[in-house]
Formats: sequence, C-alpha cells, structure tokens
Amino acid sequence: MKLDFLFLRYKNLNILQDTFTHKGMRKKLVDTLKNKGITNIEVLSAIDKIPRHLFMDSGFIDHAYVDKAFPIGADQTISQPYTVARQSELLDVKKGSKILEIGTGSGYQTAVLLEMGMQVYSIERQNELFKKTKLFLPKLNYRAKKLIFGDGYIGLKAEAPFDGIVVTAGAPFVPKPLLAQLKVGAKLVIPVGDESQIMTVFTRTSATEFSKEEFGEFRFVPLLEDKN
Ligand code: SAH
Repeated sequence: MKLDFLFLRYKNLNILQDTFTHKGMRKKLVDTLKNKGITNIEVLSAIDKIPRHLFMDSGFIDHAYVDKAFPIGADQTISQPYTVARQSELLDVKKGSKILEIGTGSGYQTAVLLEMGMQVYSIERQNELFKKTKLFLPKLNYRAKKLIFGDGYIGLKAEAPFDGIVVTAGAPFVPKPLLAQLKVGAKLVIPVGDESQIMTVFTRTSATEFSKEEFGEFRFVPLLEDKN
C-alpha cells in the first residue's frame, strides 16, 4: 500500500517536471515573442516562468515552446503563445487587478494572468475541461479567485465590475453583459468574427460610453452558447 503510494507520488513528480531543457526552450520562445512585437515585461516574464508543456497532452509536449496553438481535448485548443501574450498586454492592467477570463481551457492564459499578479475569475463551458483544469492549476500553485463552470456570454455579474475582461474564444458578436461588467476605464479584449476574428478592444470611457480599437486578425475556436 505504502509502496504504491510512493510510486504514484514519484510518477506525478515525474509528470510535472520542468527541466533546464524546457527552461532553455522558453527563453527562445520569449525571444520569438519579443521579435513579434510583445513589449510588456510582466507578460514576457510570466511566459518565461510558466511550464507550458505541462498544460498540454503528453503527445504534444515537443511542440510546447513553438509559437502555435495545440489541441487540449474536447475539440478545444491551448491558444498560441503570441495570442496569449498579446491579449494579456492589451488588457493594459496593473498588478492586483480583478480580471474575468472567458474560456479557461487548459488554464494557460489563467496562469499567465496569475503569474502577473492579477486576481483571476475564469469561466469554462466544457465540463470535462473545467474539471481537469480546476484540479491541475493548484498543482502548479496557481490559484484563481474562482473557476466557474458556466456560460461566458453572460459573464459573472456576482463579482462585477472588473478591471479587465479577456475572451479567449472567437465571438460572433460582442456580448452586452461583458461590456456592462467593466469598471469605467477598464477594457474588454475580445476576438470578434466567425471564420477568423479581429482582435477588438472596448474601453469603458464613462458609465454609458465605450471606445473601440482593432488589433488585427486572429483565429480562435468559437465561443459557443450554453453549457455542455
Ligand atoms: N484560455 C484558453 C483558451 C482555450 S480555447 C487557454 O489558454 O488554453 C477557448 C475555450 O473557450 C475552450 O476551452 C472552450 O471550451 C471555451 N468556451 C467556448 N465557448 C464558451 C462559453 N460560452 N463560455 C465559456 N467558455 C467557452
């Protein structure tokens, strides 16, 4: 019994290993992101620290530090590092800010925001992924304020208003509740479109007014309605 337990512990430790090779590959990834135009130091430092390979199925671990999206099960993907970096940068928030993420997925974007010192609330509509990520993040010592199994289209009124909201799936339209749950001065970073999306940033300039900026084309899995 005791031996079994030790073996399991050993296996788990092995699975959650972060080696010098991984660290070296991450440095290269950070350089790639800098070359692609990411300048925010907190974002780059978070990506440098987080073992992205542990957020992926073992079959894809070799690809963990290539700037690409990869499958994470349930027909979903872990976003491309550049996309995660760009969205985190576009939120334009300081340490301690209260952030709502729509689409927890693998939890990688959640980890980036937590590593940057944010208070993170994140919603996922796929029960399978929700359960997996809720168990996984604390193993790496990443503690979100709340991980919620729910529908991102309605946001999280009970915890609103937020200093920033980031949507990590392609939205066919901009959900009104998300705009309503921003503090004045806060931003909603949301890829809008069907086949491909335009990264769009809405800033709440007053209780009733929003400004809008666009930041180029991206490709996300769709933001789907209702839970599954
Ligand atoms: N942030 C994730 C990206 C995952 S891909 C990461 O870093 O890995 C987008 C995620 O959005 C998927 O997990 C998908 O299940 C989820 N999603 C799709 N529609 C949703 C909705 N309406 N509400 C919440 N999550 C949703």
